[in-house]
Amino acid sequence: MASQITTGKDVLSYCTKCKLNLSHTIVAMKDEKSIAKVVCNTCKSTHSYKDPSSSNANKTRTKSTAGTTKKTGVSKVVSISDLWMEKLNKTTSKSQPYTTDHKYREGDVIDHTKFGPGIVQNVKATTMEVVFRHEIKTLVHNKPS
Ligand SMILES: [Zn+2]
Repeated sequence: MASQITTGKDVLSYCTKCKLNLSHTIVAMKDEKSIAKVVCNTCKSTHSYKDPSSSNANKTRTKSTAGTTKKTGVSKVVSISDLWMEKLNKTTSKSQPYTTDHKYREGDVIDHTKFGPGIVQNVKATTMEVVFRHEIKTLVHNKPS
């Protein structure tokens, strides 16, 4: 298939003014196969046709870096609800209503009126950490009544 090169057609040429390979319109032909003059579609200057492949400007190729950026190094985040689920699955304790004067032990399951079921950990003399579904709270226990 013969590519049609005639006046009025667009062709890629090196523009001497823009210093870039740009789309040009052919204004004059040397013969049937070679272009004599072109008009730069960008700066509208008329100059002789310059083969874009023979110019240095063509060497700077734009690398496509779009789209394929992989998300790496995402550390495995254990959410509180995962921790809660894990602890709840492990424990054999029956849930008991939470009261401040009761003494709890690690692994106890409490049923908090506001936060729901939680698993006791890090028990201290009068405070303890409780893992609830969405948060870890420090609660009072073993409070002398
Ligand atoms: Zn130009």
